[in-house]
Amino acid sequence: MNDLPPFSHTPAEEISSVHDRVVSSFLKHKTRTIEYRLKQLRSLYWGIKDEEPALTEALKFDLGKSAYEAYLSEIGWCLNDILFVCTNLEKWMKDESAPDIPLTNLLMRPRIRKDPLGAVLIIGAYNFPYQLTLGPLIGAIAAGCTAVIKPSENAPHAARIMQHIVEQSLDPEAYRVVQGAIPETTALLEQKWDKIFYTGNATVGKIIAKKAAETLTPVTLELGGRNPAIVSKNADTKLAARRVLWTKLFNAGQVCVSQNYVMVDREVLPAFLHELGVALKEFQPKGAKDNEDYSHIINERQWSRLKTMLDSTNGKIIYGGHADKETLLFEPTVVQVESADDALIKEESFGPLIPILPVSNLEEAIRTANEVHATPLGLYTFGTNAENAKVLAETRSGGATMNDAMFHASMPTLAFGGVGDSGQGAYRGKSSFDSFTHRRSVTQTPGWMEGMLAVRYPPYTAGKLKKLKQMQDLKPDFDRQGKVKRSLLWLLLSMGGKGTISVGVRWAVFVSLIAIGARLAVSR
Ligand code: NAD
Repeated sequence: MNDLPPFSHTPAEEISSVHDRVVSSFLKHKTRTIEYRLKQLRSLYWGIKDEEPALTEALKFDLGKSAYEAYLSEIGWCLNDILFVCTNLEKWMKDESAPDIPLTNLLMRPRIRKDPLGAVLIIGAYNFPYQLTLGPLIGAIAAGCTAVIKPSENAPHAARIMQHIVEQSLDPEAYRVVQGAIPETTALLEQKWDKIFYTGNATVGKIIAKKAAETLTPVTLELGGRNPAIVSKNADTKLAARRVLWTKLFNAGQVCVSQNYVMVDREVLPAFLHELGVALKEFQPKGAKDNEDYSHIINERQWSRLKTMLDSTNGKIIYGGHADKETLLFEPTVVQVESADDALIKEESFGPLIPILPVSNLEEAIRTANEVHATPLGLYTFGTNAENAKVLAETRSGGATMNDAMFHASMPTLAFGGVGDSGQGAYRGKSSFDSFTHRRSVTQTPGWMEGMLAVRYPPYTAGKLKKLKQMQDLKPDFDRQGKVKRSLLWLLLSMGGKGTISVGVRWAVFVSLIAIGARLAVSR
């Protein structure tokens, strides 16, 4: 790490030339071939692999992140992502046959090509700086795009090492790093991109979306939310407590998909609080201070924001509460609150605060979840299968996990994204490729079909219209009351059971009847 130049912002006057370079590089079409894409991805793989110690060290500086978490959610994550993409890229790049095409139109070979969107801008966030910046970059390279990445200035050591890796591993004509904060990002947003991929808070998300709208640039927005966890009276309280607690110890709760608050049925509240205490003792036997496994808060601004939230609560602190500005330590803090209007629930904490809101039943929990934030990024429900299904059926969220917290988001190949104001678009696994790919519909009309197609040319006549209707009109299978009409044949074939034997017997009878009918017709 020490050999690298210090973190410094890219001079503003260079930003438009960086943009122009990746745009002109895209227009040379060299990023489109599979050989080029694989070469870049493989080179990035080794670039990351060779810098594993520096990558780990940078996260320690920026977030106090343990080597274990650094590997699990950042370094190993990116390495596996590259290998998964490399293995599947050829398959993903292939043209797809188009679905739902009438027989006659198949002659035009309708298909979906996978075209790269072009030159893209990727703006990363600080909490998982590699995964959230290099992850989208892997998708962009796989899709055949050129790209500029703008790592978060709030994790400057991580930003430095990423710049080093990109400069050492990737084609500098096609992949560039711009370092900086608001002025540099604003200058980047002044340029015309073919896509902007942003991860961070919703306030900036709106700035990005507005700016992109001026040039009709597509965006993927990976934002946050006030994610609920619901613990029903039938939940396994020990399991629920361990699982929700872990998501707030992980990266000191600076995780967009960690639950922002936990609603617990009053019937199991004492048991749940007890189990939280037991789990806390097990996971942090000597407490949070000086705990090598436990990250600190990214910077003083975020630490102060969390402290203000905690100081504003009307709830009762059950565990934790200690925070140290010098070391940016913030203990995992469990607070029992009495209302969804509490400061700890009204805002996204994005830190190790664990407000517990007692509820009387599942209906109250669902109603509250929908009132607090109708479209959060994640939702977690602990209960019976029927209860979990009810929660899913009566809420919305970007993703959801039943009987665990944030597990859906820890699967590297499962599409990840928000809904409504928690984000738009998704990535990871094949979705990363799709996120930077245009599905281009293509057909090809053979010359010999000219006679068949002549019906489309003017002068339009009643005869041509009639022929056109015969050729293309579909017939409704419902009447004016919306009731589905069944043909005699359908009734015959659907009589009796649905098992394989019943269906087989029906078909045998049907085919025999046709055969008898045909024989009778011939003998006459
Ligand atoms: P951050 O401070 O790292 O900012 C994110 C990016 O926005 C940075 O690159 C920063 O330079 C840029 N930025 C800041 N102000 C800007 C402006 N005015 N104009 C243009 N760009 C600007 O991270 P953050 O936003 O504090 O991250 C925390 C939030 O992000 C939380 O709400 C969290 O839930 C969300 N988040 C979401 C995901 C996800 O994948 N959905 C992941 C991480 C964080």
